[in-house]
Amino acid sequence: MVLGTRNNAIPEMVVCQTCYEDHILAYPEFAREHFELSTIPQAADQTWWCDLVVPYIYREYKVRALTNDWKNFVECVPVRMSLNPCPGSDTVYPQDNKWFTPNNGPKGLLICMACYCDYVLLTEQHSQWRNAGDNLVGIFGVSVSCFFGAQFSSASLLAKAK
Ligand SMILES: [Zn+2]
Ligand SMILES: [Zn+2]
Repeated sequence: MVLGTRNNAIPEMVVCQTCYEDHILAYPEFAREHFELSTIPQAADQTWWCDLVVPYIYREYKVRALTNDWKNFVECVPVRMSLNPCPGSDTVYPQDNKWFTPNNGPKGLLICMACYCDYVLLTEQHSQWRNAGDNLVGIFGVSVSCFFGAQFSSASLLAKAK
């Protein structure tokens, strides 16, 4: 069973049954008003990406459900869904205005926009980061990596090695 937003308010969004029951239904009225069984036909062997595993989308849901603010949910979630995924431990060419850096350093520490949304936006950390701006290549060179992404992927590698 897969759920989606009612009337395809966010066409790409899918939520698995477990997340629906554990997290979406935590706010029953909001849930029933805005989610329904997905009508998109599914192949039995198809693996679905559940959007609620994205920390930002999960947080966004809780915040908007509490304030009964579907309008902002529908505006904000597709923005997150359209971002490039975190490069993880890979280095990439830095696109201007898509990277964030802590206000008080360390200098040169960057996180990607996906990680900014997932781990900084709508959290207490919010005021401590700023957009790294443009001319990133001039400052950081042609290859940068995401500090969070690199940490998380090495942590998961370690976990796998155990
Ligand atoms: Zn799920
Ligand atoms: Zn990242």
